[in-house]
Amino acid sequence: MAEFLDQDIKFLPGVGPKRAELLFKELQIRTFSDLIYYFPYKYIDRTKIYRIAEIHAQMPYIQIQGKITSFEIAGTGPKERLTAQFADASGVIELVWFKGVKWQKDNLKTNCEYIVFGKPSVFGGRVSVVHPDIELADDQLLKPTGLFQGYYITSGNMKQTYVNSKTINKLQLILGNLVKGKIPETLPAYLVSRLKLMPLEKALITIHQPENPNDLKNATFRLKFEELFFIQLKILSVKSNREKKFKGFRFEKVGFNFNTFYSQYLPFPLTGAQMKVIKEIRRDVNREIQMNRLLQGDVGSGKTLVALMCMLIAIDNGFQCAMMAPTEILAQQHFRSINRMLNGMEVSISLLTGSTKKSERVKIAEGLENSSIQILIGTHALIEDNVIFSNLGFVVIDEQHRFGVAQRAKLWQKNESIPPHVLVMTATPIPRTLAMTVYGDLDVSVIDELPPGRKPIQTMHYFENRRAQVYNFLRQQIEKGTQVYIVYPLISESEAIDLKNLEEGYRHITEAFPDVKVSMVHGKMKPAIKDAAMQAFKNGETQIMVATTVIEVGVDVPNASVMVIESAERFGLSQLHQLRGRVGRVAEQSYCILMSSYKIGPESRLRLDTMVRTNDGFEIAEVDMKLRGPGDLEGTAQSGIGFDLKIANLGKDGEILQLARNVATDILNNDATLQSDENGVLRKNLQKIKSTEFDWSSIS
Ligand code: ADP
Ligand code: MG
Repeated sequence: MAEFLDQDIKFLPGVGPKRAELLFKELQIRTFSDLIYYFPYKYIDRTKIYRIAEIHAQMPYIQIQGKITSFEIAGTGPKERLTAQFADASGVIELVWFKGVKWQKDNLKTNCEYIVFGKPSVFGGRVSVVHPDIELADDQLLKPTGLFQGYYITSGNMKQTYVNSKTINKLQLILGNLVKGKIPETLPAYLVSRLKLMPLEKALITIHQPENPNDLKNATFRLKFEELFFIQLKILSVKSNREKKFKGFRFEKVGFNFNTFYSQYLPFPLTGAQMKVIKEIRRDVNREIQMNRLLQGDVGSGKTLVALMCMLIAIDNGFQCAMMAPTEILAQQHFRSINRMLNGMEVSISLLTGSTKKSERVKIAEGLENSSIQILIGTHALIEDNVIFSNLGFVVIDEQHRFGVAQRAKLWQKNESIPPHVLVMTATPIPRTLAMTVYGDLDVSVIDELPPGRKPIQTMHYFENRRAQVYNFLRQQIEKGTQVYIVYPLISESEAIDLKNLEEGYRHITEAFPDVKVSMVHGKMKPAIKDAAMQAFKNGETQIMVATTVIEVGVDVPNASVMVIESAERFGLSQLHQLRGRVGRVAEQSYCILMSSYKIGPESRLRLDTMVRTNDGFEIAEVDMKLRGPGDLEGTAQSGIGFDLKIANLGKDGEILQLARNVATDILNNDATLQSDENGVLRKNLQKIKSTEFDWSSIS
């Protein structure tokens, strides 16, 4: 039976070889199944028929029923158009065509009853409908009344050959009639009845031709649940297989280094949340199962310290550690701050980045081999094949959504006997739904508490007309002894133009603040020069730092308490939040000032308002995801997880996702390999899910 849906789409009545080729080329629809899983992106309520007398130009869509009373072709050449007078008992409205004039005229008749659907507009002072959908009222195939009509995305190439949303609609109707009784259920019967799910076949037909809103809701729920459920089942079963297949190092003891650090070198008391997370990790690394844990915590919540203390446990158990950061600046900063915190202890730490000199690399290679290096900090230079550890036991990835599964996996392979424990730290909180999917194979720890004594950052949004006041404010703050960041966006694709913007900004600032010392950094500088500029700011030799987003990640200058973001409307929310996190690290009041032009769209407005309203990174992450939609989630592209959602939306379907995850967890807890008869259908369908890219068990 399953083969029915696997048939080539060219065999569907109304398709044929030519259209089949087009459908495949434009929409990757090759089989009946591909078509039926090609869902509408919206529905228009076509249950209502309006009277012409009630129509006005502000209505988004109208549907009317009546007859054409007369035609006229007016104008010539490109201005040629066909107008038809369309009447019902209440009045007359004009229908207008600018394209396909002759074809329309030959096909439309004056004595037939039509149903017209379209968007009213004002034309020559009168309400008219341009390029309406027009169908014979008794066209049974389209059944335009009593339906919520689905709209499908089609490409420009398709429209040129008159294959549009309506065509897809008709094909779905034909297919829907053919498939009855031929689509096997993919979920076990106990699940369908317990969750009161619409059967798959009914859902697949209903989603294209819903008869009422309630059916549509149930069909949508069933299909979203199914989609998310199989992803969860896949992720969780891969995870459980992995845990069975790979042993992990057992860090039995908390020893000299950890204890010495804790009792003598810890610069401040740990927060409750830091303590909680260290305990969670401590438990993980003592189980002989490889740890894969995601550590989430807002900017400034103190993730680095947690990572460091866990590395000390690894060292106490005789293992080496690696810590990988997304940028050179951040790697250097980790290197410095960890060196500083461990100053006085005998732990050996090295730094490896793209700009590490050859001679230094040779030394590092030696140190890794003879185990004299205990912590290696660096950029993705760490994952290169020629970096060979003698006994790597613990890996920290400070990830900022920049490393994918494949890169994470490469670090695993750095210990041939048993893979090291892995702690992934995200620099920005990620929405719950994303954590469950893109990072769904990881356990999650959350630091939900900031170190004490920090005042919430005050955020303000100003337009250009307030610039003078903003500068006065900056002057006051600098006189009080604090420091200021001024960040410029990358505006164009061209680095030269961006640099010019930044340099102009720098000149402007030095003119506006003649008696203040100003530093500048950007991505194109030589590392040594950039470093010197950073250092000067950090040491308090300069008071203003003009920069591009190179300072976005992790840079720590506690004395800086004002962040000005120029053209803030051009930044994404998570980036704004990251930037704001550079200040607010001391007890004094910190400020974030968002400067924008007057002309900002509704989405930019919402981003800026959200920043002004809240400091909570998790809340910001949720808004960000709702704004950007599922297609553009940071991390999904790089994650390497081979799923692409057809109907569920990670921005909106958090509850269904949570349900799907809970159900999948329950099922696997009772039947880890899905061997029972009633779960046979799950075992079979799970195998169909594309898994090549995120199947960790393929690494051996
Ligand atoms: P993030 O989580 O953003 O990586 P960091 O690890 O850079 O945060 O820590 C931010 C700042 O907070 C650093 O200056 C760090 O020294 C400080 N810090 C970390 N933990 C504590 C604590 N328990 N009490 C006070 N300050 C802390
Ligand atoms: Mg950090």
